[in-house]
Amino acid sequence: MSTRVKFLMAVPRMQVEELVNLVDEDRLVNDLGTMVATPSVNPFDGPVTEECREQEFANLYRDMMNDQGLDTFSRAVVEGRPNVFGRLSGTSRGPCIMLAGHLDTVGTEGYVDPFNPVVKNGRLHGRGSCDMKAALAAYIEVARIIHNEKIRLKGDLLLAGVVDEEHLMIGSREISRNGPIPDFAIVGEPTELKICHAHKGQLCMHIKTFGKASHSSVPENGINAISHMADVVKALDRYSEELKSRRPHPVCGHGRVNPGVIKGGTISSSVPDYCELEVDRRVNTDETREVVVGEYRQFLDRIARSNPEFRYEIGAPTLDNAALDTDVNSEIVVRIKDAYRSTLHKPADVGAYVAATDAPNFLCPAVICGPGSIRQAHTLEEYVEIAELTAAAKIYLRTVLDLLLQ
Ligand SMILES: [Zn+2]
Repeated sequence: MSTRVKFLMAVPRMQVEELVNLVDEDRLVNDLGTMVATPSVNPFDGPVTEECREQEFANLYRDMMNDQGLDTFSRAVVEGRPNVFGRLSGTSRGPCIMLAGHLDTVGTEGYVDPFNPVVKNGRLHGRGSCDMKAALAAYIEVARIIHNEKIRLKGDLLLAGVVDEEHLMIGSREISRNGPIPDFAIVGEPTELKICHAHKGQLCMHIKTFGKASHSSVPENGINAISHMADVVKALDRYSEELKSRRPHPVCGHGRVNPGVIKGGTISSSVPDYCELEVDRRVNTDETREVVVGEYRQFLDRIARSNPEFRYEIGAPTLDNAALDTDVNSEIVVRIKDAYRSTLHKPADVGAYVAATDAPNFLCPAVICGPGSIRQAHTLEEYVEIAELTAAAKIYLRTVLDLLLQ
């Protein structure tokens, strides 16, 4: 290797170390505290309450991005619920990396003082602290250091704050439709910094059975839709066993099925003529909606063949979130693994995430890695370890510099 080549390689590496050392824990804690103190509860299907301030939080996040010199813009997904973006443009043709996170949080019923960010025993407490405002604060720190140090990137660094991850993911779906579509995405959902390159999707549908009402004193005159649903539930149990016998996805395992909500009948003295069961199916990438519906039809048609009175329908999906299956050898996974090792001096845990996320909707190789734990997310005592928050900012910064430094 020539001296000149050595010199060219050595300078950026030195620069990366110096830049990573600029990550400032107090600043991160301060930013995260400001974020937690601005409620952004997802209204789900209920009324919009005083806590449902996604617009206000989006404005705050946009202002924070503006302060770091990013070119910002926003788009209302529905009224009062905007996605917000900030871009640091590269100077040449490098890849575009998106650091993405959702702006919304789950609700706070029963939570004591959820929007008062308390720092105690190395943790920052409050609703949204780990799921996932910690990652948003880390993204701001990454942008701040790159901006303050006047670092020239060859490709674009894009920050995205999206609405409604906790419910129907309308925010990230809007990005699927209207862009921007980056080359890589990092999604800082709480993984305890595990690097997750895959997760299952979620497909929820209603199976409905139809009968004939009659007085319960003469049930032989009716057809009991609940009894028919009992056959469906037993068939689902067998289907669940059969899923276990299939070849598993290397990190996500086999698909799962869960009958979750059942409704039927109005009064016990009537034979019910209708019953519906909401079924949650956790799917791998090859288990598309068409495949799953086809499998449901197979066992439902089998019941119908053995019982001519059995009538059923499958409703449209109530939830249809895609699976993520980024190649473990893809550049973004390799780079963030290296960044983890350089930051924490041990190899990263790499594998699958437990829940569905926005990541597949960004339509690019994406990886999920963030501070905080799914064990604290959605609980009444949410917190993030501050050391993990700081490590996350360093890992993101290293990954961005590794991919985008000139
Ligand atoms: Zn989340």
